[in-house]
Amino acid sequence: MRPLIIPFFIPHAGCPHTCLFCDQHLISGEQAQLPTPEQIAATAQEWLARSPGRPAEVAFYGGSFTLLPRQTQEQLLGAVQPLLTEGAVQGIRLSTRPDALDAGVLDFLAGYQVQTIEVGVQSLDDEVLQRSGRGHTGRQATEAIQRAVAEGFRVGAQLLPGLPGDTADKALHTLRGVIAAGAHFVRIYPAVVLAGTGLADLYRQGRYCPPDLEGGVRLCAGLLREATTGGCPVVRIGLQADDGLVPGQTILAGCWHPALGQLVKGELFYDLVLRLASRLDDRAKMVLYCHPHRLSEVRGHGNRNLRRWHDGGLPLFEVRTDPLLEQQQIRIETIKQKLKDSLVTYSNYKEHTYA
Ligand code: SF4
Repeated sequence: MRPLIIPFFIPHAGCPHTCLFCDQHLISGEQAQLPTPEQIAATAQEWLARSPGRPAEVAFYGGSFTLLPRQTQEQLLGAVQPLLTEGAVQGIRLSTRPDALDAGVLDFLAGYQVQTIEVGVQSLDDEVLQRSGRGHTGRQATEAIQRAVAEGFRVGAQLLPGLPGDTADKALHTLRGVIAAGAHFVRIYPAVVLAGTGLADLYRQGRYCPPDLEGGVRLCAGLLREATTGGCPVVRIGLQADDGLVPGQTILAGCWHPALGQLVKGELFYDLVLRLASRLDDRAKMVLYCHPHRLSEVRGHGNRNLRRWHDGGLPLFEVRTDPLLEQQQIRIETIKQKLKDSLVTYSNYKEHTYA
């Protein structure tokens, strides 16, 4: 059973930086105000009451938790301790910067039973990091992940492909780097230009253009396939649909869609079917099979894949489910042939550079 995540957002709190792409107030949909210990306890109890019996974790997202004043960190983490002691929640997770995770910090977090640390890596390429105003290097990020993994933490890496100076190859290199460093999972947030950020200035001046929806879906699909092949779960693709995120208003440009994850997963199956179909001798009476859990992804968001196959001259009208297939597999049957392939054996990655 997936744990219940009880989230507390601490937008910009603790963060002395102003990364070019960041507006944490907007992304979290909340104003910068730290929850009090009383609010943490009350909110956690509310969430727990709605999902009795489900394992739960308290999460502190946004900002850079370990750059908060130590006393504030103690207050926030301390508020969760009674819940841990009585077994109401099983762990704490938080997000922070790679350069705010030295050995002393990790010791401190371990003492408060923090289990999961999400590291804001964004990119491992120093040029991308420098042009985005991150203030740390790729090596610092790699070492932070390695250190936290070695200390027994579960570590997630947050990646932001498509920043100024980034390329598909650099994004892929970043993904491989965090997996090699030991990251247990990743989140992929393709770059979007948020109003009021430094990135918005560059965009308006014509000095930066992020991947659009189509390009971002292709980019993320390549990363998702690589992560899947590398055995590293991708737990999130794209920013959460939120009232504060409005295309054309708060989102000026970039790859954003309320169902971006589904678009990306569907893209992998779209490519796989094209490849498999190219090996058919005869396309008459073609039927596509997939695992039942993958049906909506195979058909594509709003049947987008079915339409595109059809428009591209692939007469594929029927998708059936076969529980004996693995979730990554598909099979195409015609009168004369049966062909099977899997997402994890297929790559269709293209180089592209973002200004
Ligand atoms: S370090 Fe994190 S919270 Fe701070 S400005 Fe950069 S992205 Fe935003």
